[in-house]
Amino acid sequence: MSQISVVQCLVFISYVILIMALNAEQISELALELAPKEPKDIINYALQEFDNIGISFSGAEDVLLIELATKVARKLDKTVSVFTLDTGRLHPETYRFIDKVRAHYGITIDVMHPDAETLEAFVREKGLFSFYETDHHECCGIRKTEPLKRKLATLDAWITGQRRDQSPSTRNQVPVLEMDPTFSGPDKPLIKFNPLANWSSKQVWETIRMFDVPYNGLHDRGYISIGCEPCTRPVGPNQHEREGRWWWEEATAKECGLHQGNVIAGDVEEI
Ligand code: SF4
Repeated sequence: MSQISVVQCLVFISYVILIMALNAEQISELALELAPKEPKDIINYALQEFDNIGISFSGAEDVLLIELATKVARKLDKTVSVFTLDTGRLHPETYRFIDKVRAHYGITIDVMHPDAETLEAFVREKGLFSFYETDHHECCGIRKTEPLKRKLATLDAWITGQRRDQSPSTRNQVPVLEMDPTFSGPDKPLIKFNPLANWSSKQVWETIRMFDVPYNGLHDRGYISIGCEPCTRPVGPNQHEREGRWWWEEATAKECGLHQGNVIAGDVEEI
C-alpha cells in the first residue's frame, strides 16, 4: 500500500470513528428525550425517521408493537415491515398465531429461516436435542442469531419488544433507543428502538385486552415468555417468566446472542 493510500485509509477510519461517536452521543440524548414518551410516540418517531426499518416479532406479546405500528403507519401513510425468526422448533400454536397476525393486520411477515446447509450438518452431527446435554448457544446461534444477522444487515433500524421487567438481571438497563451494541458494524450503524422498554407486563396486557389485540393461545396455558417448544415451559404463579426458558441451565448462561449487548457485568441476556 502506498504512503498516500495509508494516510487516506487512516483518515477514513478516523472519520468513521468520529461519526460513530457523534451518533452514539446524539442517540443517548435522543434516548433521554424519548424515554418518558408512550410506546406509540416512540414508534411514531421511529417510522417517521427511518424508511428502512423492521419490526421484530417473536410470536408472543410483542404483537402489541404491530398493533401500535400499523395504527401509526396508517396516519403517516407508510407500510409496516415485520419479520420473524422461524427456528424450525416453534410451537404449532406460534406458527398459527404468526399467520393469524399476518391476516389480521393485512401485512406481510418476512419469515427468516436458518441456513439449511449449516443446520443439516449441525443436526447430523449432534442430533435434535444437543442443547439439553451442553447448552443452547450453538443451536440458538444457528437457528436464531445467524438469520437475524442476515436480516439486520438489510436494515438501518429495527424495533424490538424488549422490556426491562422481562429480566431484572439483564434487561434492567434497556433504553428506548440505542445504537445496536451487537449488530452495528464500523461502517454500518444499526439503530435499535425498544418502545416497550419502560412498560411492565401488566401495562402490555392491559393494552392488548383494551384493543382486543390477537394473542398467542399459549399465554392462556401458563406460558408467559414464549420461545422454541423444547426450550420453553409454563411457569408457576411465583416464578419469574424467564424461569420457563432454558430451565436446565444456570441463569448466567442464558444468552443466545440476539441482544448480547445487554450483557452487564457478567450477566447475560435471554431471548
Ligand atoms: Fe435451539 Fe432451543 Fe435456541 Fe430454539 S431456543 S434455537 S431449540 S436452543
